[in-house]
Amino acid sequence: MKKLSARTEGFTDSVIRRMTRVCNQYGAVNLSQGFPDFEPPAAILDRLQQVAHEDYHQYAVTWGSQRLRDALARKQSRFMGCPIDPNSEIVVTCGSTEAMMAAVMTVTDPGDKLIVFSPFYENYGADVILAGAEPIYVPLYPPEFNFKPEELEAAFRQNPKALILCNPSNPSGKVFTREELLLIADLAEKYDTYVITDEVYEHIVYAPHEHVYFATLPGMWERTLSCSSLSKTYSITGWRIGYIIAPPAIIDVAKKVHDFLTVGTAAPLQEAVVPGLLFEQSYYDWLRELYTGKRDLMLKGLDDLGIAHTVPQGAYYLLLDISRYGFASDLEFCEVLARDVGVGAVPGSSFFREPVNHLIRLHFAKKDETLLEALNRLESLDKKIKPRR
Ligand code: GLN
Repeated sequence: MKKLSARTEGFTDSVIRRMTRVCNQYGAVNLSQGFPDFEPPAAILDRLQQVAHEDYHQYAVTWGSQRLRDALARKQSRFMGCPIDPNSEIVVTCGSTEAMMAAVMTVTDPGDKLIVFSPFYENYGADVILAGAEPIYVPLYPPEFNFKPEELEAAFRQNPKALILCNPSNPSGKVFTREELLLIADLAEKYDTYVITDEVYEHIVYAPHEHVYFATLPGMWERTLSCSSLSKTYSITGWRIGYIIAPPAIIDVAKKVHDFLTVGTAAPLQEAVVPGLLFEQSYYDWLRELYTGKRDLMLKGLDDLGIAHTVPQGAYYLLLDISRYGFASDLEFCEVLARDVGVGAVPGSSFFREPVNHLIRLHFAKKDETLLEALNRLESLDKKIKPRR
């Protein structure tokens, strides 16, 4: 038999999603793959029930149903503070996972280079490889996860086609400041580079931090592909509804890529989510408060247990320092943690380009009782996994 594709040899299956399977195997509280265990808003669920008996069972328009795009354009125009045309400036995709892949395919040819900050959400590595592109990694330095402007400019000097910007950032919890974004914008302009954003945590930002949409910075609309999704904002990660927002010339190409990749995301779900997009500001205030409460619960719980951790400015992830347990492999640590302590985490190494193996990622998009159960189990951590330092 001939060899299967060489391009898939460079990466494994997703470690994030593998950890969910490990959690299920050991009955661990799953704080690995980031998804909520609480219900989506009632208005969306009520509409879902009705939709079953309406005429939404065949393909929607490939780049998204008219009603969804109209509602999304209204919502994003409000938050981004610029008018977005629902017909020429949006493509609805199967989650931001497809949005990012389609954006990379829209912008690059095989051999093109893409700047990726490290740590990064693991899909970007695979996206770049699947597109036949080449990543240029630029480190973000803890604890603030700041980049060094000279290192970023050195990456831009290598003639990249685009930069991938995850903001708020998974797994670091960094929310890029306006000043940092303006610096990136200057470089994007100077080196004529596109910017592909992943802004799925746009509404999960902790005061005093604020989310700045990269596309709204001076001159950036023309060169930005803003990717996001409804998964985190409305707690519907299984619905797989994401989107790309960009100027018409870019969206024309993204529509073609998307059409041949997936045709479209589930038509009944596109209809059922519309009431969510019509929510008032109070919903987004509530969401921010909800996650602020969960973040504070986890921070206090971990502090009480004496476990060193990052403090997220946005998104719903924490990185825990496991150096004291002296494991050579953070993957092995996560397996032992799931099996013996009953808490699921993602090994930090799956997010870093650098050889980092002393961090694990927990997420807190869970009911308070689930988080308390996880903290409760973590109390026995040092008994079950003996610190070696
Ligand atoms: N973004 C979430 C995470 O990092 C979920 C990823 C996924 O499995 N699609 O855990």
